[in-house]
Amino acid sequence: MSYLEDAKLLLKEIFGYNEFRPLQEEVITHVLQKKDTLVIMPTGGGKSLCYQIPALLFPGLTLVVSPLISLMKDQVEQLQEMGVAAGFLNSSLDYETYYDTSQQVKKGKLRLLYLAPETLFLGKTLELLSSVSIDCISIDEAHCISEWGHDFRPEYRKLAELKAKFPGSVWIALTATATPQVQKDIANSLEFPVNQQFLASFNRENLYLEILPKTNPLTQTLEFLQSFSGEAGIIYCYSRKQVDQLCQALQKQRFLAKPYHAGLSDFERNENQTAFLKDEIQIIVATVAFGMGINKPNIRFVLHYDLPKNIESYYQQIGRAGRDGLPAHCLLLFSYGDIAKVKYFIEQKEEQEKQIANKLLQSLLRYVESEECRRVPLLHYFGEDSYTGPCQNCDVCLSSKYENQDITLESRKFLSCMYRTQQKFGMNYIIDVLRGSKSKKIVQFGHDSISTYGIGRDVSKEQWLKIGHTLLHRGIARKEEPYGSLVFTEKSRPVLKQEVQVFLKKKKERNDLSKKKSETAEVVEGLLDILKKKRKQIAQAGSLPPYAVFPDKTLLEMASLFPTTETALLSIYGVGRVKANVYGEEFLALIREYCSERGISRENGDSPQLAPSDSGKTKRYIEICEKFNSGVSLDRLLVEYKIQEKTLLAHFHQYLLDGFRLQSAQAFIDRCQLSPQQVEEVLDVFQRLSTERLKPVFSYLREKVSYEDLTLLRIYFLHMQ
Ligand code: ADP
Ligand code: ZN
Repeated sequence: MSYLEDAKLLLKEIFGYNEFRPLQEEVITHVLQKKDTLVIMPTGGGKSLCYQIPALLFPGLTLVVSPLISLMKDQVEQLQEMGVAAGFLNSSLDYETYYDTSQQVKKGKLRLLYLAPETLFLGKTLELLSSVSIDCISIDEAHCISEWGHDFRPEYRKLAELKAKFPGSVWIALTATATPQVQKDIANSLEFPVNQQFLASFNRENLYLEILPKTNPLTQTLEFLQSFSGEAGIIYCYSRKQVDQLCQALQKQRFLAKPYHAGLSDFERNENQTAFLKDEIQIIVATVAFGMGINKPNIRFVLHYDLPKNIESYYQQIGRAGRDGLPAHCLLLFSYGDIAKVKYFIEQKEEQEKQIANKLLQSLLRYVESEECRRVPLLHYFGEDSYTGPCQNCDVCLSSKYENQDITLESRKFLSCMYRTQQKFGMNYIIDVLRGSKSKKIVQFGHDSISTYGIGRDVSKEQWLKIGHTLLHRGIARKEEPYGSLVFTEKSRPVLKQEVQVFLKKKKERNDLSKKKSETAEVVEGLLDILKKKRKQIAQAGSLPPYAVFPDKTLLEMASLFPTTETALLSIYGVGRVKANVYGEEFLALIREYCSERGISRENGDSPQLAPSDSGKTKRYIEICEKFNSGVSLDRLLVEYKIQEKTLLAHFHQYLLDGFRLQSAQAFIDRCQLSPQQVEEVLDVFQRLSTERLKPVFSYLREKVSYEDLTLLRIYFLHMQ
């Protein structure tokens, strides 16, 4: 068997992956031929495998020099979970553990030995290593070698001295630093021959890139967080003070958040980081001090509360999200005020430094102000000039999926009606006047004789609500508490005077992906929850981070593919032989139980099938909703189909999620027990948060609106979208 075939086998057997990521195969082949290799790959690109697989194939030991103790421990734990004999030596170990690991090295029991550079240079370590055969020396975070890098370490510089000491070993240096100067410096200082370098693309396709104007950052942050129920993320701030303030604000809102910055004690920093890695807290609010050596694969968002220093650090920070390849969201809140702050600091610098800093700032500005795909300026900065986009995974690319509807005329009618009623009434009242309602209140106030009475009959109430909300969200009108009267802002008059136009964004096409998700989402999420609980239990018992047991992607595949046999389990992402043996049965039992409860079966052992009764149900909900569209009332449907109201409403929800339309949704409003003002409030909250889950909406409304009413209004809300 060729080396490469062996490598592929190990990829599946040990790591549980089916395919190599870009360049891994080439790098591994190169290293196996004992040619020194420099690997430049973005964070999450899969650098570790580039030396871990050769380490399993070489007869002798592989050393891994790594600058961070926490990272070393994490990597070794993950390897041990996969059944790989790995150990580490650094200053954190007590004498006994140090001795044990040394003994294992001596006896040739380890495949990989991770070392801190200063430990490597100790006399006793060098002596230990001289007694064994070493095939490969791997330098992780190799940019630490370069004074041009952002994290220079003098001990790293001395590594080259060891080349003569281990003549039989191949060297591999790995970094995510993209600047050519650092790359050259690494190769020179390790005396690598030219052209022994592998440079991967820096495009991380799974990261959704978004930039928003920073208007009210705390509110924006809270809104952003609503879409990540319990999922892990990092929020970067400029200063320690900002970190502390924001963290406290989040804790007040009951988020599990902890701070991280250089002003905290080592102990506290460590504790917060560990809690984050173990999924015990959800959010780390941090300065740039946080992140180096964070290996956590399931970080689902990175939020820049303040402007990063330059593109390079921005890219590194967002790169910590989505290492597992699953989608992650990177949001930057941008204000020109922040630019002024950075400029002020630049002004204090020496002339030459000033020039460089200004240039870096310009690149960052080009990025944030870009009207083309965000990835274009980003990748061009890293030298990938041929990238032209569109990526379809950034705010700019996706905004073209919307079309603009001009609602200037309607907005003027609306504002004018607000004005004629002295800015003293709420949205529903204004709409009633516009639509010429004969309500008692309107007659009483004499608003049936003002010029805007009835000028909006041609537009449905629902459409008016949408317009009203748009005006609020754009700050063209403002709601005044405690009565919810709509009043003018400084943006109102320019619209009235036709100096500014107003557009409504309308989705051009349905997003098929989200449709697919919604059809099976509930089944998948139900099982996913169960599997995650199990994982946490196992991780806690073994004092491991949960991702060392299985990464999220593995659980997600299990929850959607329903493997019930060991063979099927082995085909799941991230399930190698050892993990299948150790944990397989526990997870399989849960999956089997879940499937049998819900009548989910697997045909021919490969494609999972929802039970026929389920697909029957699928047809039924369409039938029911179509009857409703043809004029049958909700009450009549309840009787005819002998179903509970809850079930009926669930059918409508699904129907809308699938992209079908209702003729009218007034019946759902009529059915709920709320005043028009309360209805308004609920719709407003749906707009702000999301409709995916009702719980956050329920809490946001201080538990005052029942779930029944929320369910009804959610249908109404989705209908209006
Ligand atoms: P880097 O060190 O380049 O930041 P890692 O080596 O930590 O990246 O890899 C990131 C994640 O991707 C890890 O969870 C790793 O197990 C996973 N991974 C690596 N190679 C593959 C592959 N070929 N297929 C699937 N997942 C992979
Ligand atoms: Zn794009």
